[in-house]
Amino acid sequence: MNLYDRLRPDTDIEYCDCSQITRILLVYTLSVNPIHCYECKGAIDPERISLSNKRTEKIASWHRVFSSLYDLWMDSGEYENFAKKSLLNKEGEVNTEAVKIAKDLSTEIPTYYWWWHDFDDGDFTECPNCNGVIDQDNKHGVGKCEKCCIVA
Ligand SMILES: [Zn+2]
Ligand SMILES: [Zn+2]
Repeated sequence: MNLYDRLRPDTDIEYCDCSQITRILLVYTLSVNPIHCYECKGAIDPERISLSNKRTEKIASWHRVFSSLYDLWMDSGEYENFAKKSLLNKEGEVNTEAVKIAKDLSTEIPTYYWWWHDFDDGDFTECPNCNGVIDQDNKHGVGKCEKCCIVA
């Protein structure tokens, strides 16, 4: 990333061009839209999946909180540890909301929330939410927990 991009609007979003959306990945990618195609990782315009107003609002407000915490963590300042703890806390709102959203969307299209972790801490070996087994489907991260609708 060009350093100047940090002060520029986000304009180069790559959209999903798959003929059909079979699975969704809910993931923060530094852009304004956390709804991505599981297969190609391209962004999915909310209109394409006819996202309801209620779901759109929920996703937008969850995303605002997530990106705020992420920014605080990235900033490596006074709030770094607070932000990291919040992003990892399975009882914290940012994660409970995301799991709720993923489960809700999954009633129509299977959706997975990509759980954040600090790469310095190594990979997850179990589901960060239920401590259960994560499958070996490591298209993204190290695997998924189907029960929690999570990519870890
Ligand atoms: Zn796609
Ligand atoms: Zn789980």
